[in-house]
Amino acid sequence: MSFSKVLDDLSIVIRETAGDCELYKKQSNEVEFDFDTTIKESNLGEIPYIPWSFFKQSNNIFKELLRGNTFDRLNYWMESSSTCGDPSILGRLDSDIEVLKANYNDVFNSFSKKEEVKNLILFAPGMSIIKKIRHNFYGKNAYLLYKSIVDIWDGKNVNFLLQFFPGKTVRKMITTFKARAVIGINGKLLKSELNRVEKKNIPTIMANSPLWMHKVLNDYYQKENRTFDLSENFYIITGGGGWDGTKGRVKLGHSVNKGEFIERMCDMFNISTDKFCDNFAATESPLACGGHWSKQHNDFLLHVNHSKGRIVLRDIDSLEPIKTTGKPGILELITPYGVDSYAGVAVLLDDVVQVENWKRCPECGREGAIFRVLGRLTPSIGKGCSSIFSLDSFKL
Ligand SMILES: [Zn+2]
Repeated sequence: MSFSKVLDDLSIVIRETAGDCELYKKQSNEVEFDFDTTIKESNLGEIPYIPWSFFKQSNNIFKELLRGNTFDRLNYWMESSSTCGDPSILGRLDSDIEVLKANYNDVFNSFSKKEEVKNLILFAPGMSIIKKIRHNFYGKNAYLLYKSIVDIWDGKNVNFLLQFFPGKTVRKMITTFKARAVIGINGKLLKSELNRVEKKNIPTIMANSPLWMHKVLNDYYQKENRTFDLSENFYIITGGGGWDGTKGRVKLGHSVNKGEFIERMCDMFNISTDKFCDNFAATESPLACGGHWSKQHNDFLLHVNHSKGRIVLRDIDSLEPIKTTGKPGILELITPYGVDSYAGVAVLLDDVVQVENWKRCPECGREGAIFRVLGRLTPSIGKGCSSIFSLDSFKL
């Protein structure tokens, strides 16, 4: 796929979206967008965009962001896990979900070894728990985005560490008089799996939220001083944010410094920094940006796949596009692929990032913009059902 094809496809999808989504048309009219404009690298900032807040449950306009007859054909809503108290709600049909999954797969294969490695340790819950976490809007269930993509691990031996602990739940009910399930990391499973992997030298990927990974493994390390020699075959994929101490509508009271995380994991598993991959993605856009660790920046460098989309960086105050490097701004994700169901062609997020290079990565040579995540526009506040998650690992 040529890089300019993305721009041509953008022109088409922008026009089509305005044609079958009133709200996007309104946004386009507000910025007086000319649909005959040829989209070029230089005018990406002119594309009408949807601010992240439009997807928020509290604003109650998420249904209006659906295109055409998507609502009638929709099986369920997708709900974000990376925003607090007030999730984003999106409607995606199967064809868009397939694009989303392909984008995640590309990141995991390009920046890690998903294809080759058959054994997984996931700091995530299995399907039975995910199906229980649901809401309902306009007569349709809403599930975490994770439900739609978890089958990308099909065919692998997956250890889901996030589990439901009935004993803890009963105790919690007695002490708080509230019937809430306690979900936490199964430390016993983690321990036995790590021992098995080391003993038999099994290539393994450990993946998901860095928050749980860091806290649980740190506790383990400090308690038993246990290290592993997994230097040959051990890969770590982080994703879903959580570096700032908030995961989903859950404040875990523990933030993770990226540099410290990498150092600790390298020490604990005797691995080098090239074994790490970070996946930056937002529920509101199908784009996924893969990252590798950069010693120079002491941070993950995230890459925009130029055959799939583009980014625009906007000034935090004026929202005008920033074209320089090294200046913090708000990230906008742009893609014509995977947005047939809703107005997601250009979405302004609440992530504050800094572009380090607009053309290519000086470290790995990949084409396309590279950026680092600096933080959030709105400080994350975990609230709501936070008490169902616990950072402690049980039975460790
Ligand atoms: Zn790179």
